Amino acid sequence: MKIRNCIVCWIVLASPAGLAMPALNAVPGGIVQLTLEPIDQPAPTVTFNQRKTLVTQQNGNWITLIGIPLSTKPGEHKAVVQPVGKSRYTIAFDVKPKKYPESYITIKNKRKVNPNPDDMKRIKKERGQLGKDLARWTQQEQIDLDFRLPAKGRMSGVFGSRRFFNKQPRNPHSGLDIAAPKGTAIHAPASGTVIDTGNFFFNGNTILVDHGQGLISGYFHLSAIDVKPGQHINKGDLLGKIGATGRVTGPHLHWNMYLNHTKVDPALFVYDQLTELDDGAKAR
Ligand SMILES: [Zn+2]
Repeated sequence: MKIRNCIVCWIVLASPAGLAMPALNAVPGGIVQLTLEPIDQPAPTVTFNQRKTLVTQQNGNWITLIGIPLSTKPGEHKAVVQPVGKSRYTIAFDVKPKKYPESYITIKNKRKVNPNPDDMKRIKKERGQLGKDLARWTQQEQIDLDFRLPAKGRMSGVFGSRRFFNKQPRNPHSGLDIAAPKGTAIHAPASGTVIDTGNFFFNGNTILVDHGQGLISGYFHLSAIDVKPGQHINKGDLLGKIGATGRVTGPHLHWNMYLNHTKVDPALFVYDQLTELDDGAKAR
C-alpha cells in the first residue's frame, strides 16, 4: 500500500464529517479535540504543557484543538481548563503510539548536513528568531480552519518520517513536501497575517503566516517571496513560488503547520484534498 493512501485512510476515518475542521488523530504529531463549556458561557482558557491552546466553537460548545508534540510519550496526558470566574479543572486524554517511516536522503552540499562553526552561529540565531515567531499568540474569535492545499504537485515527503541525511540521523521531518517545478505558485491555504519572511540556513527562503490563536503555517525552500511581514492575506492569495533554497535535493514546497507552538501533520488540515496531489508519495 502506498504511504499516502494509508494516510488518507486513517485521516478520513477520524474526520468530523461536514465540518471545516482539521482531522483528529491522538498520536504524536496529531491533533486532539476536547469539548469544554457551552457557548452561553464565556470562552475558557486552555493550556497543554504550559502552552495556550486554540479555543473555538462547535455545535454549541467551546472546544479546544491541541497539537501533540512528536516527542510525546504514549499514554494519558492532561489539558488544564480555566473557565472565566470558576475553578480550574483538567481533562485527561490518551495519546496512542505511532511509528513513522524511515527516510534516507543524500545531500550533496555537505555543509547542510555538517555545518561549520560560522554556520552554527547563524543556525543558533535563526533558531531564536523562529522560536520567537512561533511563540506568537493573536487573540481572535473567528479562526478559519477550512484549509486549501497551498500548491499543486507531487507529495514527495510525509510528516514525521525519521530522517537520515547522508546516513546520519537527524530530526524527524516536520512538514509535508510538495514537489513541483521551480516557480510554481504557492497560495495561502487560509486567511492570516504574515509574521516573518527571510532566508534561513536549513529552510531557505521562508514565510510564516499567523492564522490566529497559535495556529501558524510555514512555507520553506521558496525561489521567491511575494509578501511582507505584517501583510494581511486572504485565502488563495499568492504567497511566493516553489524553489530549492536551503537543505534540499530538488525544488519543492516544505509546508509546516503549528498549533500551540507544536509542529503537527499538515495533512490533517487538507485530508479531503490529498488525492489532488499527484501520485508517487515517498518519505523524505
Ligand atoms: Zn520537507
